[in-house]
Amino acid sequence: MNVKFDVSRIRKDFPVLTQKVYGKPLVYLDNGATTQKPLSVINCINNFYLSRNSSIHRGLHYLSEQATEAYENAREIVKEFINARYSHEVIFTSGTTGSINGIALSFGEKYIHEGDEIVITAMEHHSNIVPWQMLCERKNANLKIIPFSDDGELLLDEFDKLLTPQTKIVAVIHVSNSLGTVNPVEDIIRKSHQRNVPVLIDGAQSVQHLDVDVQKLDCDFFVFSGHKIYGPTGIGILYGKEKWLEDLQPFHGGGEMVAEVTFEKTTYNELPFKFEAGTTNYIAAIALGEALKYVSSIGKEGIAAYESELLEYATKKIKDLGDIKIYGTAKNKISILSFIIGNINPYDAGMIFDKMGVAVRTGTHCAQPVMHRYNIDGTIRASLAMYNTKQEIDILCEAIEKAKSMLA
Ligand code: PLP
Repeated sequence: MNVKFDVSRIRKDFPVLTQKVYGKPLVYLDNGATTQKPLSVINCINNFYLSRNSSIHRGLHYLSEQATEAYENAREIVKEFINARYSHEVIFTSGTTGSINGIALSFGEKYIHEGDEIVITAMEHHSNIVPWQMLCERKNANLKIIPFSDDGELLLDEFDKLLTPQTKIVAVIHVSNSLGTVNPVEDIIRKSHQRNVPVLIDGAQSVQHLDVDVQKLDCDFFVFSGHKIYGPTGIGILYGKEKWLEDLQPFHGGGEMVAEVTFEKTTYNELPFKFEAGTTNYIAAIALGEALKYVSSIGKEGIAAYESELLEYATKKIKDLGDIKIYGTAKNKISILSFIIGNINPYDAGMIFDKMGVAVRTGTHCAQPVMHRYNIDGTIRASLAMYNTKQEIDILCEAIEKAKSMLA
């Protein structure tokens, strides 16, 4: 493990973690849903509204220039963070959901026709299912699904069979939010490109845990949400290769995304503005830049090493309790633990956990097809972040024991 990684120091940066709920110390293990924010992010938002708030790209006055500079600087930070080739390949959106819907609209409008096929996996979040389904309905196209094994690993042989001359795009979850599996997206991208099929990667659960390099991945689109990587809500990223973003039509029309507007015809602005219609959530974008700076200051390598140590500790401890079934046992996984205790309903267990100060997610995790695959109604999901500790895992285990004693 990276010796410089100091969890007690990191926890001091997250004031929300110091509180008590129902008189018990908060144990926040719902990071897959959203992460807490470090002081630097909170202060950034606060300070911006206190002293520098102004509409970006539109004013010539001092405040507007300051805000514009900070916004474009945030784009630069995102570009560096994911190693995009150009900063104009980085589009600010409302989040992962917004980014995927945008591509489904723009790409779908131009390239999807009757009988075409779109390939996704059986472990997608609803955000990477429904927009494609809606597109298929509009265009009379077909959705094809890559299945996964009992361990939660994609069956790549099946993927090979799904790639046909009708395949027009492949959209894949990088890390499963319900199982923790890290999918072999490099293989999927390589195989798809051999057939000239572009690939969108849903990085909502990967970018905060893994070192993502979009050039190395060679993905065509990569999307993620600010709030899952210690940044604010309402902001997200759509990375697209320049050639695609130049080629596709904007998915929103309005101010800022235009070059010239007459009633006869509108021409569009250059990248990235062509895809950023209206007043964006620019303060959130600037604060996302702060969040990424924070993550980089801790070090992605140290974070990954610490989180995998936590996962190993948690997996062993939870298994040792007995009568627990873990869903998602892939060889390559990140710090998400989905499980069921005996025949206890996850919702009932979650309520007991809550009273002990332990925040987990219970239910289907916006991945109902995953639950259907296992023929279950839902799981308890503990999703760990860099500020969680082994002591917190111990408290989670106490909560499991308590649920067992009360409900089994
Ligand atoms: N994709 C995955 C894998 C997710 O885990 C989530 C959120 O949980 C989303 C997409 C949707 O993210 P958002 O609601 O921030 O748009």
